[in-house]
Parts: sequence; structure tokens; C-alpha cells
Amino acid sequence: MSTSALVLFSGGQDSATCLAWALSRYDRVETVGFDYGQRHVIELSLRPHLLQAMPALKPEWPQRLGEDHVLDLSVLGSISDTALTSNAAIAMQANGLPNTFVPGRNLLFITLAAALAYRRGIDVIVGGMCETDYSGYPDCRDDTLRALQTALQLGMDTQLGIETPLMWLDKSATWALARELGGKPLVELIRSDTHTCYLGERGALHDWGYGCGTCPACELRAKGYRQFVASTSAPALRS
Ligand code: ZN
Repeated sequence: MSTSALVLFSGGQDSATCLAWALSRYDRVETVGFDYGQRHVIELSLRPHLLQAMPALKPEWPQRLGEDHVLDLSVLGSISDTALTSNAAIAMQANGLPNTFVPGRNLLFITLAAALAYRRGIDVIVGGMCETDYSGYPDCRDDTLRALQTALQLGMDTQLGIETPLMWLDKSATWALARELGGKPLVELIRSDTHTCYLGERGALHDWGYGCGTCPACELRAKGYRQFVASTSAPALRS
């Protein structure tokens, strides 16, 4: 039985939900974030606040949350010319993937997280990868992650596991999971203090959170939140 987890924690909606999920089931939870020269640093800058505010939502969470690690992955910027790491506009490419795609990014993230977990004596890596809201990222697919888990277990001679609690959930179900894990306070924390917008826009607080409202990430988040609110019987969430 695994007792410790390392959560890939970017400061976005999905990874914040994963952090709550891990705090609900592991005795010791550490977090890791990657600084890879995103043209917006808002997402990373929200991490310390979330790491402080989230454990306070449940009596057993503060003692479970351990160290946070931030790894410098600026090398990604030098090998990838994409909309997330340069000033190019976000667009769909001929291969059907958005040009925000950094090839193999999650493979690198998880491999580095696995090395860190090994050094920290941690059994499980938790990530918010998801196939359901299909954005074409092949390194987020379940098949890819099962293969990577096998490679890491062989290559590091460990039984390290990769857990992806959001893999088969859509964005609405991800909000519902947050409510199940931490009630309305967790939903509210994620709504107002996580960041998803590709453009780094944080001017106005919409019903679904901050963001430009028109980039693909904002559209997905807004649609999911509205479906979640429509499906819930708690009218207080309709602020
Ligand atoms: Zn946006």
C-alpha cells in the first residue's frame, strides 16, 4: 500500500484537484513544479498561495503536506518554439495539435518527477493528465503513461506508480471531484485561485475563474464549470 505521493503541481485547475485528491489518500504528499520559461508566470506564481490555503480546508491535510520543489526546465524553451514558450500566437497546426504543444513535455516532467520521487523515498507520482477533454496531446494518454511507468520501473528498479485521477473525467466531473474532496470551499479556492488561461489574463473574475475567456483553455474551463453548476443542486455555487 502506497503511503506517499509526489504531485505534479502547476497551479492550474487540474493539478490543484490532484493535490486535494492526494491529500485525501496519502500520509505524506510533496509537490513539484516546473519552470520552463512560460511566457506567463502567473500559474507558477499562484502555487505558494494554493499550497498554503488548501491544507487549511481539512483537519488532516496540514500534517500530510510536505515539501514543495520547483525544477528549472528552461532548456525546454531552447528546444521548443511554441506558443507557450515564445511570442507566437496560439493556433491549430496542420497535424491537428495546437501549437502550444511542446513535444514530449509530460514525458520529461514525469521522468524528472520520478527521479525526485526516488530520491525522496516516494512511491507514487500523481498527475492531472486527461484523455477526456481531448486536446491531442499524445503524452497525456493513458497508454503513454502506462508505458512510461513500465520504463521507469525497469530503468530505476522501483515499483514507482503513476496515478492519473482525472484521466477519464471531463472538466465538469473534475469540478465535481473537487467538491467531493473538499466541499464548496475547495471549489471556491480552485475557481478563484488557480490559473488555466494560455494568455495569462487575470483581469476579471468570471463565474468560472480568471482568464481571457476566449483561448481554448478558458473555453474548456468555462464550459466545464457551467456544466458542473448546472448539474449541481447547490444554488449557492451560482455566484
Ligand atoms: Zn484564456
